[in-house]
Amino acid sequence: ERARLARLRHTPAVTLDGEAVQMHANIELPGDAKAALAAGAEGVGLFRSEFLFMGRGGQLPSEEEQYEAYREAVEAMQGRPVTIRTVDIGADKPLDRAPAGDGRYDHVLNPALGLRAIRWSLSEPAMFRQQLRAIYRASAHGPVRLLLPMVAHMKELRQVRDCITRVRQQLVDNQQPTGQVELGVMIEIPAAALILDALLPLVDFVSIGTNDLIQYTLAIDRADESVAHLYDPWHPAVMQLLATVIGACRARGKGVSVCGEMAGDVAFTDALLAMGLRSFSMHPSQIAFVKQRILRADASKLAAQLPQLLGDEDPERVAKRLGWA
Ligand code: PEP
Ligand code: MG
Repeated sequence: ERARLARLRHTPAVTLDGEAVQMHANIELPGDAKAALAAGAEGVGLFRSEFLFMGRGGQLPSEEEQYEAYREAVEAMQGRPVTIRTVDIGADKPLDRAPAGDGRYDHVLNPALGLRAIRWSLSEPAMFRQQLRAIYRASAHGPVRLLLPMVAHMKELRQVRDCITRVRQQLVDNQQPTGQVELGVMIEIPAAALILDALLPLVDFVSIGTNDLIQYTLAIDRADESVAHLYDPWHPAVMQLLATVIGACRARGKGVSVCGEMAGDVAFTDALLAMGLRSFSMHPSQIAFVKQRILRADASKLAAQLPQLLGDEDPERVAKRLGWA
């Protein structure tokens, strides 16, 4: 079985009825890109750049240090796209992993609802422009896509676009080469899913972060053991949001992928294919398992069965009956 999965590494992920599916990897540090390639990843769908910022006693990496890290990942992927997410600091990913008592975030009652991710970046514009410069400079070495975490407001996206305009002008002024960089937003707050029609014209692609989307849709702290039994990816509200976002992106010709844990869990592969998803991003170790599932799937048959799943109060039961989960 192990050898068979290994052979799958470089087999393209295509369904029985000929639908090609992109298999991308989630990475935390540039050194992970090697494992991603070895696992057969066709690109990096999520580079969690906050890992460059964490565990350094709150001292931020310089533009140069970031540029080197992004460039290392881009070069390692040898022409495949690398999706770099701007820092998603805060909540479950504190800037400084020091135990409680260092003071900086202690007073925050609801860190998951607080100053994190894109909110934090926009509140530290000099730091944010530094990261954007590093990312744009890395794009001179291969295809780079820029991904924004936790967007909820149109004005956040407009502010980011203003920052990008300024940064690109600075790079031109300094004669620093850059490539084309596609811009994307993560859909991980229900509000973003609900204003998708307004967001889409301003972006090239979206990536659905199911880990947070489930947390915020169900009001379940993803790190709180006492409510873990209610953290339910099969909840009909989650299914509805996923199907709606994937459908809307496809209808408007915008790329859409899922980069939360659901993408790497074979229990959800058929459901996501049924919704029209053709791009998955996951931990490299999961790629072969999900691919195996895709190779056995008939996408048009799955799509025809989707209304049964979406029309039921218990989608998990339907998925089990259909042999999906
Ligand atoms: C997510 O929320 O699904 C996601 C991919 O981002 P993270 O797990 O890093 O918050
Ligand atoms: Mg997230």
